[in-house]
Amino acid sequence: MGELLELNSDSSTESVSIVRKKIRSQANKIYSKLKNSSCIKCGYTLFVELAHIDAIANFGLESLVSEVNDVSNIIPLCPNCHWEFDHGYFTIKDLGI
Ligand SMILES: [Zn+2]
Repeated sequence: MGELLELNSDSSTESVSIVRKKIRSQANKIYSKLKNSSCIKCGYTLFVELAHIDAIANFGLESLVSEVNDVSNIIPLCPNCHWEFDHGYFTIKDLGI
């Protein structure tokens, strides 16, 4: 179980803070994957970002944050390759993953 992507407008402050805590703890897990990694397309190491393989927009509102941010849905890319990926210049299949 996990939290829905979108909080209901009537969510209490408490539940919002719980969701934020969970997102932060997931982000830390993902960050540990990113550490010491290089862009999987070009190998650049000085600055890499997390790219979502399945774009966040592809997930329905009922999707769980944990599904969207699942480590298997995240790849490290440098800013240039991230931009190319988001704009369809290459796909995950092109990378042979
Ligand atoms: Zn790159």
